[in-house]
Amino acid sequence: MNRYIGIDLGGTNLRGAIADTETGQIFHKRKCPTLATEGLEAVIKRIVQLIRELMDAGAEPDCEIKAVGIGVPGTPDIDTGVIKLLPNLPGKWLDVPLGAIIEEQVQLPVALINDVRAITLGEWTFGAGRGADTVVCLAIGTGIGGGVVVNGQFHLGIGGTAGEFGHHVVEVDGLPCGCGGKGCLELYASGPAIAAMGVKEVMHGHTTRIGDLVNHDLNRIDAGIVVQAALEGDLIAQGILQRVGRYLGIAVGNILGVVSPQRVIFAGGVSHAGDLLLRPVVQTVQERVHVIPLQKVEFVLAELGINGGLIGAALWAKLRCDGQ
Ligand SMILES: [Zn+2]
Repeated sequence: MNRYIGIDLGGTNLRGAIADTETGQIFHKRKCPTLATEGLEAVIKRIVQLIRELMDAGAEPDCEIKAVGIGVPGTPDIDTGVIKLLPNLPGKWLDVPLGAIIEEQVQLPVALINDVRAITLGEWTFGAGRGADTVVCLAIGTGIGGGVVVNGQFHLGIGGTAGEFGHHVVEVDGLPCGCGGKGCLELYASGPAIAAMGVKEVMHGHTTRIGDLVNHDLNRIDAGIVVQAALEGDLIAQGILQRVGRYLGIAVGNILGVVSPQRVIFAGGVSHAGDLLLRPVVQTVQERVHVIPLQKVEFVLAELGINGGLIGAALWAKLRCDGQ
């Protein structure tokens, strides 16, 4: 039996598991803090240690671990395994040949991929994208990432860079973005943007659950708190999600015009808001998009949660191993 290791390198946590890429089952799930502020070498050491633990845990008769897939929060060059951009992780990651470094230490083939591209692959194969041959996935968390499947093919573009929806322009001449552009979606609809809107509402003295949930400690307001307040019926928090959904809807409308997917999947922490987020997205799309048969497009939430990225990274390792 062939198994693959899937790793998800997150800004906060480093997760890993062994995956059966035939069934989507995962085993021996592990998690530890990334502690990225300790620097690149410490993080690499932790990744290697995690892989070794999983290799030990998965050492069973008739079961061979073939390769490791690692989802990273940025853009690795998928052909060379070199990190090209890792904006949300402190340290000097630019041009680090992460794939080769880890491969040498664990003596297994290692394939890198953007973390949301991994989620897309996982959800398409075993989750909310099952059965559809053209799919778009957006994950809304610390940043906004994406992935695309076109006509039954996982579409990666040059070096794996297709699906950077967080950097779609939604405000011409808008705020400057870390990517070097201006007015990118990520600045208006990501977790930190939502948190900033929540802070502003509390600072303006508005009566909202957002403040109550953190005992008016502004430092503790994050997107999760705003989503929670919205789910508890707070109108101000719901208003924030309405604004965020509108920006997402503008970007999704643009994506529909290019890809014309059967299904659009929303993943990431902010998607826990469910309908409170989906409704304004779909409403904005309906108002603006008239050249795509919208009745044939499904807007759905991701199904696999954290496991989506782990399974997706393992599937990526398999795809690479099989030479596809
Ligand atoms: Zn940008």
